[in-house]
Amino acid sequence: MPGRHFLQIPGPTNTPLPVLSAIARPTIDHRGPEFGQIGADVLARIRPVFGTEQPVVIYPASGTGAWEAALVNTLSPGDGVLMYETGWFARLWSDLATRLGLKPEVMAGDWRSPVDPIHIEARLREDRDGQIKAVCVVHNETSTGVLSDIAALRRAIDAAGHPALLMVDTISSLGSTSYLHDEWGVDVTVAGSQKGLMLPPGLSFNAISSKARAASETAGLPRAFWCWNQMLEANARGFFPYTPSTNLLQGLKVALDMLEAEGLQTVFARHKRAAAAVRAAVAHWGFETQCQDAAHHSPSLTAVRLPEGHSADGLRQTILQASNMSLGNGLGPLADRVFRIGHLGDFNDPSVIASVAGVEMGLRAAAIPHQSGGVDAALTTLA
Ligand SMILES: *Cc1c(COP(=O)(O)O)cnc(C)c1O
Repeated sequence: MPGRHFLQIPGPTNTPLPVLSAIARPTIDHRGPEFGQIGADVLARIRPVFGTEQPVVIYPASGTGAWEAALVNTLSPGDGVLMYETGWFARLWSDLATRLGLKPEVMAGDWRSPVDPIHIEARLREDRDGQIKAVCVVHNETSTGVLSDIAALRRAIDAAGHPALLMVDTISSLGSTSYLHDEWGVDVTVAGSQKGLMLPPGLSFNAISSKARAASETAGLPRAFWCWNQMLEANARGFFPYTPSTNLLQGLKVALDMLEAEGLQTVFARHKRAAAAVRAAVAHWGFETQCQDAAHHSPSLTAVRLPEGHSADGLRQTILQASNMSLGNGLGPLADRVFRIGHLGDFNDPSVIASVAGVEMGLRAAAIPHQSGGVDAALTTLA
């Protein structure tokens, strides 16, 4: 098809050309001096993106690997883990915990709201004998477009006086919205390369607090590939215990250059602004967002509910065929009810407007009743 492909799914996101060309450079010796410099550089410069001065480890794996790494390094077979089902990704993480031999206790959410710190605080207060070893939540629930308040969750855990570790999945929020691993007292932060960090899939991250590090000394789950200790020992010299994704790390170096050049606060403001413009269009069309809590709209994506009787997958297919634009599908129980517009990573105002325009053209072509003029509503918001 003529023209560029519009990859407007909430991850993987569009990879900027400077990052792509860094990845395309010749592969280098992962035990040689040039790599040691790149390794030390990215391991140091990734920390401020997490809001931490503590170690961040990088795996050659998708985000799911970093989920597993967080659990196997800190917990023992049969440990209780308190999780909150904000949506599909929270559910997948709890399924993974079950398969590892942990005992996740999943608090049901309505898939339209953030994590409820009051509910978690009450549950932790009941846990007098300390069965719950960790609280695990998703910061930005990518299936619903809802952002949770991690600082409020930290306060709730502290108010309950509970020693559980706090683990947070930031796969679709890191690099798109403010995140403060140290200030919020998070013990393990999980992230991936393919969303706000503007890289292709294939790298994932654990930011590790000293409390999590101490827990890893006595944790009983088996771990080999994911072992923090081995990783941290090699990382101290800029190297890795096994072959890292050398080319993706070359790309990460350039992605960090780009984030630093723009400034993290400017990056976050750009995401907020895009999200507001997309929501203005959705409201104008007359549709609901999946997120029902105005204070917790995601800065990275918008999940849109179509009126009863209309197929979100049919609309996405129409848009892909007519406009060469990919939108995110509804996940799990939201399949075919919801479509998701990604506005994270590398984009500017015209890309936001193009996404909105692609959707509005699709709504017309698919004859889904809506109020036309959503593009203008988005333009007004951006102006
Ligand atoms: C994308 C995503 C994941 C899945 O990560 P993979 O890289 O597909 O393994 C997990 N959690 C959240 C919140 C995500 O957005």
